[in-house]
Amino acid sequence: METTLDSALRGAGLKATAGRVAVLGALDSMAHTDAERVYRTVSAVLPTTSIQSVHNILADLTAAGLVRRIEPAGSAALYERRIGDNHHHIVCTACGAVADVDCVVGEAPCLTPSSAGGFTVQTAEVTFWGLCPSCQKAA
Ligand SMILES: [Zn+2]
Ligand SMILES: [Zn+2]
Repeated sequence: METTLDSALRGAGLKATAGRVAVLGALDSMAHTDAERVYRTVSAVLPTTSIQSVHNILADLTAAGLVRRIEPAGSAALYERRIGDNHHHIVCTACGAVADVDCVVGEAPCLTPSSAGGFTVQTAEVTFWGLCPSCQKAA
């Protein structure tokens, strides 16, 4: 039987291999996750998986547009399934917690550059930095 994950993969032109299905499934339940944590989750289901194959799968899924990759400064690349809506992120400067921020104002790209040098602008990526609620309490 074809699952939602299988058809998402096929729809993006990828073969629904066990590894890809497991990685996509892991990201369905964990937002903003690095490859290491995806690997730990996937290897519980597929013990033969290697960290290298998880990296390869994440690269394939990102290239196919099924997964979004964000790279906050000082953090490993993080992957998420929430794609195509040009949302932004806020990162805690103390513990590294990441949360989604919807469009800054209005519709994508949310920000209008003073000059785009003749480029057409499709997306804008903004990272806000601050203290998360639990770090504020601890401070
Ligand atoms: Zn924090
Ligand atoms: Zn996000």
